Amino acid sequence: MCRHFAWLGAPRSLGELMLAPEHGLLVQSYRPRRQRNGRMNADGWGVGFYPLDSAEPARWRSNRPLWSDASFASVAPTISSTCVLGAVRSATAGMPMDETAAAPFQSGHWLLSHNGVIDRGLLGPHPAAESVCDSALLAAHVFDRGPEHVGKLVAELGTSDPAARLNLLLTDGHRLLGTRWNDTLSVLATDDGVLVASEPFDDDPAWVDVPDHHLVDVTGAGITITDLES
Ligand code: GLN
Repeated sequence: MCRHFAWLGAPRSLGELMLAPEHGLLVQSYRPRRQRNGRMNADGWGVGFYPLDSAEPARWRSNRPLWSDASFASVAPTISSTCVLGAVRSATAGMPMDETAAAPFQSGHWLLSHNGVIDRGLLGPHPAAESVCDSALLAAHVFDRGPEHVGKLVAELGTSDPAARLNLLLTDGHRLLGTRWNDTLSVLATDDGVLVASEPFDDDPAWVDVPDHHLVDVTGAGITITDLES
């Protein structure tokens, strides 16, 4: 099970978001606090962000552990964005190990990350998948269905495959969508934006746990949390 997060709000640097927090993504790559499947996330990492003058996201992905990437650590404080989606990976057995299997996956303006596992047989092949990894295949199917329908698709797939874990994070740079389906997910509203993450970055009591089988929808207008099964 991997860990992921997304930020939507005032510009923040990748260093502030990913590397600096006490229990942020960097620490979650080797010492996650709430991870139930796998002990660390050393099989790669990735980040997508929207450059201030572009609607299309840029991505940086790697199949190495985040903690070993000294070049990223030096550049991350210099890149800022109003919308960032990052992930660290613990590969599921049998999945490819190259960087094309690391989230976030992309389709046009949209980015997607998946914490979990799904039976690839249930999804069927997809020509647009970036990798044969289950998460990349799932991303291609979500992009096809329309990212705004992700909640319905997750509920359908989760019902068909009870062993599936389907925590997804998606963004188009203006809206964040997050599903919690059989793993952990938390939200923090700050003065200048919203963080959605697999687990809290610190012990701030303002972090709110999203209930299982729910969808978080964040826009400039606020945060809504809805039941995926109703
Ligand atoms: N199944 C995905 C992979 O192999 C995600 C794994 C995870 O969430 N740990 O990359």
